[in-house]
Amino acid sequence: MRVLVVEDDSRIAGAVAETLGGAGYVIDLEADGEEAWFKGDTEDYGAVILDLGLPGMDGLAILKRWRAGGRNFPVLVLSARGTWSERVEGIDAGADDYLPKPFEMDELLARLRAVIRRSAGHATPLMAVGDIVLDPRQMRVTVSGVPKALSPQEYRLLAYLMLHAGRVVPQQELAEQLHGAHEDRESNAVEVLIGRLRRKLQTGLIETRRGFGYVIEAGDR
Ligand code: CA
Repeated sequence: MRVLVVEDDSRIAGAVAETLGGAGYVIDLEADGEEAWFKGDTEDYGAVILDLGLPGMDGLAILKRWRAGGRNFPVLVLSARGTWSERVEGIDAGADDYLPKPFEMDELLARLRAVIRRSAGHATPLMAVGDIVLDPRQMRVTVSGVPKALSPQEYRLLAYLMLHAGRVVPQQELAEQLHGAHEDRESNAVEVLIGRLRRKLQTGLIETRRGFGYVIEAGDR
């Protein structure tokens, strides 16, 4: 993954580059604000680490221009001026996270991984397990490309299982996802819904783990 590091303090820039290089990232270093904006605007980056106080153009101005121009890579902002109002301003400008100086390199790496992971989730909002594809934006489900009409409760149950694909979800946890606090809970409601889902989806991907709960997983195909 290619990461743009924008930092005018050469000592910090060098240390960040070394750490990220050691962690397997490909680094572009930039110290000038104007140049940094241009690189981010024209090159493809998996993520950007952005200092705020820069010669040429301020980090917040750069970030606002990138976002206004539709550049949506994750941005981790670094700043010595770590006041809460500045953090708010940075996040409002489109920063994904904010790390005050001085910081530990391990924390920088962890936060970078987190913003990349979250942005990947946003980039591909569709959830897929085996042949089943669920689009949370439209609340639509297809199996091998064929749309399936599900009731709201069936949809909620499937969405929850798919979000936690590969994990055995206890029946009680599923029941809590399905019902509001004041609705009646029939003890076998989850079982009934699972049965209907299996019939509608015509798939064996939803497995029962007796005494534990249910799991959806693609398995080896
Ligand atoms: Ca600086």
